Amino acid sequence: MIVEDTSEQAQLRAAVSAMARRYGHPYFVAKAKNNEHTDELWAEAGKLGYLGVNLPIEHGGGGGGITELTIVCEELAAAGCPLLLLVVSPAIAGTIIAKHGTDEQRAAYLPGIADGSHKIVFAITEPEAGSNFHRLGTTARRDGDDWVLNGRKCFISGVDEAEYVLVVARTEDTSSGKLAPALFVLPTDAPGLTRSRIEMEIVSPEKQWLLYLDDVRVPAPALIGGSTEADLPSLFAGLNPERITVAAMGTGTARYALERASSYVSSRAVWGRPIGSHQGVAHPLAHAQIQVELARLMVRRAATLYDEGRDVEAGVASNMAKYASSEAATQAVDTAIQVHGGNGMTTEYGVATLLGGVRAGRIAPVSREMILNFVAQHVLGQQKSY
Ligand SMILES: Cc1cc2nc3c(=O)[nH]c(=O)nc-3n(C[C@H](O)[C@H](O)[C@H](O)COP(=O)(O)OP(=O)(O)OC[C@H]3O[C@@H](n4cnc5c(N)ncnc54)[C@H](O)[C@@H]3O)c2cc1C
Repeated sequence: MIVEDTSEQAQLRAAVSAMARRYGHPYFVAKAKNNEHTDELWAEAGKLGYLGVNLPIEHGGGGGGITELTIVCEELAAAGCPLLLLVVSPAIAGTIIAKHGTDEQRAAYLPGIADGSHKIVFAITEPEAGSNFHRLGTTARRDGDDWVLNGRKCFISGVDEAEYVLVVARTEDTSSGKLAPALFVLPTDAPGLTRSRIEMEIVSPEKQWLLYLDDVRVPAPALIGGSTEADLPSLFAGLNPERITVAAMGTGTARYALERASSYVSSRAVWGRPIGSHQGVAHPLAHAQIQVELARLMVRRAATLYDEGRDVEAGVASNMAKYASSEAATQAVDTAIQVHGGNGMTTEYGVATLLGGVRAGRIAPVSREMILNFVAQHVLGQQKSY
């Protein structure tokens, strides 16, 4: 397995990094605190082809894979701009539509995702179902040529800045007669679709929303793939890219935090020499660095397996990458704050602003406990515990 970037990937990494560092963490924080979006950054990333690196060339993408998209996610985060909507729009929605959409859906949605002119967010989580997606209660009922959707979704990131939302609902499976999950693309201004903001303790321009679907009527082509047979493959096609790109965002954020911390401890002197010369300060940073590098290896492995179409192995590796990255990133950011002393909690030094994002990474898109359940059951062969 190749763990180094090819020369093309290295060029992509350097170019994304250079662009993202022109914006930087102060830009990201200012947008978050002013309730604004990172429109300039998103538009530039789209124009330069970074948002569509993983999408097919014939639909305006770069023809690469999730490996290339992890590079984009990681370098943006490593410059202090961890953009969650990269995970949602190109990674989840882009992959699902590219792999399972009809020709018309691919032509309609992929070019806009790739050039950044529109975003598609993703709505699976429901207040009552939580981690148990078998309990999803949002329904899609056929009515003539239309579908009518009803239900409630929570923690939906970025609906306010998106043109479309990809909703997971249940339809009646034509072959079994049972309710089965299916995906629908809805315009975010569809009649009957309303939202209210969930106030979060995360410093990010990308906000979370409750979504209410009350008799939202959409035409037949809104159904991804166009068939009412149980559509688990479409759903699962998006989940591994989501986990891998979230993991890449985590390692990028951790790199940013460790860069800031290393720079600080090299110059801050309280006993006549830089505090980084004290092992009590340097060792936790070195430990965090090692954990982050290990997580980066797992992200690379997961992305490579996914791009090679080795879906079962990719599923295991994606979960492990997400777990390793979120643990490493939380530890790295916490350590970066600690070595800054009081300055770690100031706005000026800009490290505490990372904490909410990495901490949320231990919960979403799948919690650390659900990953441990998965590994215990599917890798270690233990009985399902829930
Ligand atoms: C910042 C952020 C952004 C998000 N963006 C989106 C989005 O864009 N779209 C979307 O659809 N969702 C989104 N989510 C939702 C996210 O995917 C869920 O929060 C996550 O899946 C956990 O579900 P829950 O919050 O209902 O927790 P619950 O399922 O209620 O779990 C609560 C706790 O119990 C533990 N637990 C539950 N069951 C078990 C078990 N069987 N064994 C052991 N432990 C268990 C969990 O690990 C967790 O610690 C986002 C969440 C956050 C925080």
